[in-house]
Amino acid sequence: MSTVVRRTPWPEGTARALSTPLQPSVVYCAESPDALDAIYEGRDAGFTYAREAHPNAEVLARKIDALEGLTGGLILGSGMAAVTCALMGLLKAGDHVVGADRLYGRSLRMMADDLPRFGITSSLADITNAEAVRAAIRPETRMILVETVSNPGLRVADLDAISDIAKGQGALLMVDNTFTTPRALRPAEHGADIVLHSVTKLLAGHADVTLGYVAAVDPEQTAQLRTFATTLGLTPSPFDCWLAERGLYSFELRYDRAEATAALLADRLDGLPGVRRVLYPGRADHPDHARAAQLLNGRFGNMVTFEIDGGRPAANRFVRAAEQIAFAPTLGDVATTISHPATSSHRAMSPEQRDSLGLSEGVFRVSVGIEPADLLCDEFEAAVRAAAQG
Ligand code: PLP
Repeated sequence: MSTVVRRTPWPEGTARALSTPLQPSVVYCAESPDALDAIYEGRDAGFTYAREAHPNAEVLARKIDALEGLTGGLILGSGMAAVTCALMGLLKAGDHVVGADRLYGRSLRMMADDLPRFGITSSLADITNAEAVRAAIRPETRMILVETVSNPGLRVADLDAISDIAKGQGALLMVDNTFTTPRALRPAEHGADIVLHSVTKLLAGHADVTLGYVAAVDPEQTAQLRTFATTLGLTPSPFDCWLAERGLYSFELRYDRAEATAALLADRLDGLPGVRRVLYPGRADHPDHARAAQLLNGRFGNMVTFEIDGGRPAANRFVRAAEQIAFAPTLGDVATTISHPATSSHRAMSPEQRDSLGLSEGVFRVSVGIEPADLLCDEFEAAVRAAAQG
């Protein structure tokens, strides 16, 4: 056997690479036990073991920190890893959480099915109504979890009032900023203590990585999150971080372009045959338009929800006719995707529960991408007309 297994030093004289290097190493070699001590004690910069931290995650985290106006954020293996890390890393048995009643389904499931096994209870409240949130608070409430714009109804939380309620109670306000993104809202500027993202969505933007981000305003809580994530092994893949960093470079351009098209699409859908309603926070007829205009800096996002008549048969006709648009339950890809809550995000609910949320078989949520706006609007119009023809 030869010594081929020994690592060869990187060739001397190699010019500094322009793009971020991809570093998949699981482990890092320190120069001496003293040097390792210095890294572990924070006296020297460096990495030791990839489950604890690695360069590609750090580079990505610092960029999202900058967008959010935060420091010390962590990249984790998925958006749900970020939700898990924040809930379980900061709460303890006996604590109570108030969650938005229209949270992402898995976050709801975690609160209903998983947290109780660890002695953490939760209640849900309509976060468009601050009084409903106040009514859900208990003496042991330690956290309020909010998505500022809900899925798929695109309802807008009364964030500033909820922030005051959280402060009054001494509870942490945690904001899942996946839908709004720092382009429209920096939750820490509205009193959020914890901010998280499914980086999988608009930030990475190409539907090819699954990642999350979580950051605390308080450095002690940041340290607590980092320790818990390391213990749980919520580690992201370096390659996913590298891809997400590349995606992030075009995030602001993609967001602006998709948002402009979303506004056009919402207006085009309104009034087409068989279209019962269109929900877009930028439209004056949206129930939370005024709040969105004030809270989201005049940004209304890339998501549009609409409802067509004709139940499941018309829904099938619409999706088949919209053959150039991916029917896929995600959001934030460069290309437009449509999802059907009744058969995806909200399929675990009974038809009666879905009806109570206004989620009939005719409701579609559109994540608008960066295709030419005219082409996209024409395709939607043709598919809606085909669905209406029966
Ligand atoms: N939060 C929101 C608002 C989401 O929409 C999602 C996923 O769709 C998540 C969290 C979970 O993210 P991930 O799929 O990256 O785990």
